[in-house]
Amino acid sequence: MSGYKFKERTAILLDDINLMTQADPKLLANIRVVLTRTSHPGNIGAAARAMKTMGLSRLYLVEPAVFPNSQADAMAAGSTDLLAQATVCATLAEALADTTLALGVSARRRDIVAEVLTPPEASTRLLTEAQAGPVALVFGNETSGLSNEELSLCQGLVTIAANPDYSSLNLAAAVQVLSYEVRQAWLGHASWPQPEMDAATGDEMEKFYGHLETTLAELEFLNPGSPGKLMLKLRRLFARTRLAKEEVNILRGILTAAQESQQRANRARNPGAE
Ligand code: SAH
Repeated sequence: MSGYKFKERTAILLDDINLMTQADPKLLANIRVVLTRTSHPGNIGAAARAMKTMGLSRLYLVEPAVFPNSQADAMAAGSTDLLAQATVCATLAEALADTTLALGVSARRRDIVAEVLTPPEASTRLLTEAQAGPVALVFGNETSGLSNEELSLCQGLVTIAANPDYSSLNLAAAVQVLSYEVRQAWLGHASWPQPEMDAATGDEMEKFYGHLETTLAELEFLNPGSPGKLMLKLRRLFARTRLAKEEVNILRGILTAAQESQQRANRARNPGAE
């Protein structure tokens, strides 16, 4: 009997917490979970369940090994609606095209992303930026985690401070931890400060990198035949900074000016050629 009463009391408390909050549901709708190159479909289902229990709904799958799949449906239980609405993408860049902030979730600290955040810090950042548009948490493959290329598309890294002797959580468990932290931060704030800047989207950054690569090739700074790691290093540099839309426009203006100047120099060298 007393056990029943305790349960009832807990339920009332949880209801109170959910009613008390003035938190805006649109913010959770703007936070997407991106799973890259997931091997086990069961993990996709379990991740959907983890998300739905915390009020997240936007699932993006980049190159899943197997999807849709009955094991994913079974592990999703009551969250198969998230699987049905999931967006499947060929590349991570596609999944992040309209986002202004992408945080990679990884147990391993890497040089490639300068800023390492705790899950509560990441939640604050995501919810602040989610006021302006879509933002993403990016999770890696079960065996290999996030590649350097994948991390180079993220502006920060989130690490769950686990047992240093055994720090690798199951993928869906990691999704649960981050989803929980996002929800706690969301419940705790009726309002958020405005985002610091009008940040460029993933797509605008990709177009900038394309323009940068073409220009560097035209200037013969980069050999298109053997580009090496230059573009990856430059991506890392800009990911550290996080650019505003206006700054991307200025940089692209500089690139265009450099291209035009190079073309004028080429014409002056070969006046006959057209
Ligand atoms: N062997 C892989 C671990 C993959 S676990 C590696 O070393 O990177 C699958 C995914 O779960 C990871 O890519 C990451 O997104 C998440 N994950 C697991 N444990 C984590 C931790 N302690 N901190 C942050 N993310 C973690």
